Amino acid sequence: MAVGATIIVGIAKINEESQFENKKISVFGFVLGVLSHGILDYIPHCYPINSKVDVISSLIVFLLLIYYVKKKFKILVMTTLLGSIFPDLLDLSPGIMNSLFNINLPIFDTIFPWHFQNYSGSIYINNCNISNINHVLTILFCFIIFVLNKEKLKIIIIKENENKR
Ligand SMILES: [Zn+2]
Repeated sequence: MAVGATIIVGIAKINEESQFENKKISVFGFVLGVLSHGILDYIPHCYPINSKVDVISSLIVFLLLIYYVKKKFKILVMTTLLGSIFPDLLDLSPGIMNSLFNINLPIFDTIFPWHFQNYSGSIYINNCNISNINHVLTILFCFIIFVLNKEKLKIIIIKENENKR
């Protein structure tokens, strides 16, 4: 979600014709979202957040981000964030739904290579030092991009008492 939001800040157009241009680049946002997901899955990582909390909080962040951006950025935000979670939606959601709701959906082989055992950076042993460093670096990277694009962010996000334009 954080990297997805960072991609949006990076590629969003804020000029006069931005309504049209942001729609045009929304496919690009989706592809970048999927690719960034792949890179992050490939890098060694543990799972510091409980999977149920992870799914539910991601969904809340997803909806909040879409709600709190101006109308002309909504499609770009939606497609880029969707791209960032799309590989997991396709490959992992039956398993997640099964554990969330105690049901028995069939589970198929994964489609995206970074979910194959050979290419996944998932760490299930106890030593998560490298993973923790990677998480901190990722969040720090996103934070720096946000700070560098502060003015652009102000244009994208809805301010208080402002109509959604
Ligand atoms: Zn994944």
